[in-house]
Amino acid sequence: MRSENKFVEIWQVTKEFPTKAGPLAVVKEFDLTIARGELCCLLGHSGCGKSTVLSMVAGLTKTTSGAIIVDDKEVVAPGPDRAVVFQSPTLFPFMTALGNVRLAVDQVNPKASAKERDALARKYLTLVGMGDAWAAKPAALAQGMRQRVGIARAFALSPRMLLLDEPFGMLDSITRVELQQTLVDIWSEHKITALMVTHDVDEALFLADRIVLMTNGPEARVGKIIDVPFARPRDRFAVIEDPRYDVLRDEMLAFLEENDPHAAVA
Ligand code: ADP
Ligand code: MG
Repeated sequence: MRSENKFVEIWQVTKEFPTKAGPLAVVKEFDLTIARGELCCLLGHSGCGKSTVLSMVAGLTKTTSGAIIVDDKEVVAPGPDRAVVFQSPTLFPFMTALGNVRLAVDQVNPKASAKERDALARKYLTLVGMGDAWAAKPAALAQGMRQRVGIARAFALSPRMLLLDEPFGMLDSITRVELQQTLVDIWSEHKITALMVTHDVDEALFLADRIVLMTNGPEARVGKIIDVPFARPRDRFAVIEDPRYDVLRDEMLAFLEENDPHAAVA
């Protein structure tokens, strides 16, 4: 197994939220390990607890019980070692794209000169295809470009792990495909361990090494794990034409159908 190389261990994690009827376990005894350098997608129906799991790995939400270990350290708080990318990035409106990425660069390179930090910020913006638009302020940027800045900022932290919560969920389908390609390209180069929440089956099959399908909440758990066999670097058309693509896609859709919270109950 991958255990000798495990980077993340989510061990028997339960998260309860208070409700009028008492505490409700949204996820219960959730177990998952992620290998160093792996890109793992977390997929499941809306409301099943994907963001809750991601947020606990980020250290933004406390577990009720169980433990999360990242790189041999227990997660107790957020930190720059785990960069988080949400659906739409919170950028400072009065700063340029460069200024926004500089904040992340400054955080982890306090000893570098101003010139060096600018160069680093430019480098990360270039990685996401924003090298020429560094002087633009967020209001002047389309949503997809703002998300590119968000991804540049995440990489600028030189994190040991990347946590992405439906990062392309707000984008139109063309922009989404472009950003998926950008992400997979940068990820392939940096081989950074990543956990990404999505509810898009095709997105997960294109990006992930493994896809973790969650059961419905409450008391959601890992329902099924899909190993994605496609060679890297990945080419979208080669992936879609691979005969295994339809088999895996059908397997995932069947799981989601079986676990549909809105299915009519006879
Ligand atoms: P997903 O990301 O899979 O759509 P979430 O993790 O956001 O799901 O939410 C899972 C469940 O936990 C939902 O039923 C949601 O209402 C509930 N939940 C999430 N955050 C809180 C909170 N802070 N307080 C109470 N309930 C919450
Ligand atoms: Mg969510």
